[in-house]
Amino acid sequence: EAAGVGISPEQLLPLYPVTATKIYMNLGEPDAIEKYKDLPFDGIGLMRIEFIITDWVQYHPLYLIEQGRENLFIDKLAEGIAKVAQAIYPRPVVVRFSDFKTNEYRGLKGGEKYEPEERNPMIGWRGVSRYIHPKYEPAFRLEVRAIKKVREEMGLTNVWVMFPFVRTTWELERALKIMEEEGLKRGKDFKVWAMAEVPSIALLADKFAEYVDGFSIGSNDLTQLILGADRDNNVLAEMGYFDERDPAVLAGIKMIIEKAHSKGATVSICGQAPSVYPEIVEFLVEAGIDSISVNPDAVIATRRLVASIERKIMLKRLNKIMDKLNKLELGF
Ligand code: PEP
Ligand code: MG
Repeated sequence: EAAGVGISPEQLLPLYPVTATKIYMNLGEPDAIEKYKDLPFDGIGLMRIEFIITDWVQYHPLYLIEQGRENLFIDKLAEGIAKVAQAIYPRPVVVRFSDFKTNEYRGLKGGEKYEPEERNPMIGWRGVSRYIHPKYEPAFRLEVRAIKKVREEMGLTNVWVMFPFVRTTWELERALKIMEEEGLKRGKDFKVWAMAEVPSIALLADKFAEYVDGFSIGSNDLTQLILGADRDNNVLAEMGYFDERDPAVLAGIKMIIEKAHSKGATVSICGQAPSVYPEIVEFLVEAGIDSISVNPDAVIATRRLVASIERKIMLKRLNKIMDKLNKLELGF
């Protein structure tokens, strides 16, 4: 008896249509998985770990290393990631390595002395550029060890990783090498993705595809960088400059999908755009994206929308096929 919600499984079915495009969910707060785990998503397409660091760890990782307390960082990170991976096993959890800006890192306890003052933190020392820097590399290794702990000691092999703010192939190669030195190697059941959020990746996704299994489009940063419009600038936002539906942004997204697919890499998206704009979801499905990751409150609506778009695309294709067959007069 579904007395609590007063809805039967038959009535629920339309909320859970099967789609060819995977529907993923974005998550930052590990405890929130308890609330959302039964939603119809195929995995976590973006697990941000910044929340775990600011709220659970609270200290700057280099400060902890200096104090000989780096296990605190590894253990808390592993605990948060494992919580999510366990709750939705065997669905995958794509964990993104941290992508704080220097001004945000400085806010962590003990963080001031490790962080340079930057004029433009948004395009400064963030993403992979930190992991491969001799000063920060030891902290990146802690993140890798946390992933390794979850996958190997806790057996949660549904945990994959994703590199944020990738700018060049050489930095990606170096970061992958550090990961390998820690004993984590890209493989059949350990997928490694790169976020596509700097226009260099849109231009050369086929080259970047040599290093990763897939891409996830960070439409927030990609929009900012393609349009040259600071994502936190209210004046520009009010004037309508920051718009993921801008034709230049859509052209960038299309390039990523085509170039990645030409080399067999998958493409997902984890920025805000598909959680907010149904027309972007339609654009993405028509462009052949493999998965779409949205906020928890957009999972059901996105799944239904994708199902209806896929149905429309399929009918269009079948119509074309039937036209051809009819011309052959095969007597259907
Ligand atoms: C993005 O840029 O679209 C993204 C998902 O990353 P963040 O918002 O954390 O920069
Ligand atoms: Mg981003």
